[in-house]
Amino acid sequence: MADVENVIIIGSGPAGHTAAVYTARADLKPLMFEGFSAGGIPGGQLMTTTEVENYPGFPDGVSGPEMMMAFKAQSERFGTRSLMQDVQEVDLSQRPFRLKSDGVEYLAKSLIIATGASAKYIGLDSEQRLMNKGVSACATCDGALPMFRDKPLVVVGGGDTAMEEALFLSRFASKVTLVHRREVFRASKIMLERVEKHEKIEIVTNAKVIEVLGETEVTGVRLEDTVNGETRDLEVTGLFVAIGHQPNTQVFGEQLDKDERGYLVTQADSSYTNVEGVFACGDVQDHVYRQAVTAAGSGCMAAIDTERWLESQGEG
Ligand code: NDP
Repeated sequence: MADVENVIIIGSGPAGHTAAVYTARADLKPLMFEGFSAGGIPGGQLMTTTEVENYPGFPDGVSGPEMMMAFKAQSERFGTRSLMQDVQEVDLSQRPFRLKSDGVEYLAKSLIIATGASAKYIGLDSEQRLMNKGVSACATCDGALPMFRDKPLVVVGGGDTAMEEALFLSRFASKVTLVHRREVFRASKIMLERVEKHEKIEIVTNAKVIEVLGETEVTGVRLEDTVNGETRDLEVTGLFVAIGHQPNTQVFGEQLDKDERGYLVTQADSSYTNVEGVFACGDVQDHVYRQAVTAAGSGCMAAIDTERWLESQGEG
C-alpha cells in the first residue's frame, strides 16, 4: 500500500510551482507530477514563450524556460518532490484520492490541479518547426519583441482573441493582416469593428494558412482561398495563432464540474472545486486572464485553501 501524501500537485507551470512553494513551506511535503503531455515538456505554456517582460520583479525580462527553472528551483528548495511524469488515471470518488502514473498508484489526502490550458495550433509541420522563430500563440507575451517591431505580421483566427491580438500587435507592427477561414466572425461586434476601422489592420476572409515559410525564421505564410482554392504568399515576419485554447482536464473525465468551454469551475473567491479536498488553480480554471502572474496568484490561493482544509480535517 502506497503512503498517503498530504497533497499532490498536478502540473508544473506558475500555478503548480507557486502552490508547491506555499505547501512545502507549510511543511505539507507536496508531491508534484510535472506532466508533459500538454506541451511535450514540463513547465507549461511558458516553456514555449520566448521572453517574459510583464512578470513583476524582472525589470530586464526573463526567458520563459529560465523563469520555469527558477520556479522549480524555488519549490524544490523547500522540499517539493517532483516527478517528471504524467498522471494517467484519477479517482476522486473516495478519500484518500487515488492517482495512477506509469502503472504506479499514489494516494493523496488533497489534490491541487494546475494542469493549465494548451493553445490550439493550426497543425502544420512548418508551424512547429518555426515555433519561437516567428510563430507564437501569445501576442501579449511575444508581440513587443524587437523581432516583430515595425514588421508586417499575420494573425489567424476569427474570435475575440484574434481581434485582441491584432489590435495589440498593431501598436508595434508596420501592418497586421488578420486571416480568418470564413466570412462570418465569432468575435463580438465591438471588437470586430475596432479591427475593421484600424488603419494598420487588413482583414482577409475565406483564407487559411497552409504553410509557414522560412528556413530559420518566419519570412511569410502561404494562404489558400477556402472558396476557390487559389494560393498566394504573404510576406510577414510573424505568425500569431489565435484560434482558442483547450483546458487540460481530460484525465478527470466527468468527476469535476466544468463550464461550457470545459474549464474547471471553482467556487467564488476560492480554489475549491465541487469535490471536497480538490482545488484548482491557473489556466485550467481561468479562460479570462491567462497570465503567468495570475496563475501564480491562484496557485497561492490553492495552497492556502488546501492547508486550511487539511487543518479543518484534523490533518494540519
Ligand atoms: P473562439 O473559439 O471564440 O474563436 C476561435 C476562432 O479560431 C474561430 O473564429 C475559429 O474559426 C478559428 N479557428 C479554430 N480552429 C481553427 C483552425 N484550425 N484554423 C483556422 N481557424 C481556426 O476562441 P477565442 O480564443 O477567440 O475566444 C475564447 C473565448 O474567450 C470567447 O468566448 C471570447 O469571447 C473570449 N474572449 C474575450 C475577450 C474579451 O472580451 N476581451 C478577449 C479574448 C477572448 P470558426 O469561426 O470558423 O470556427
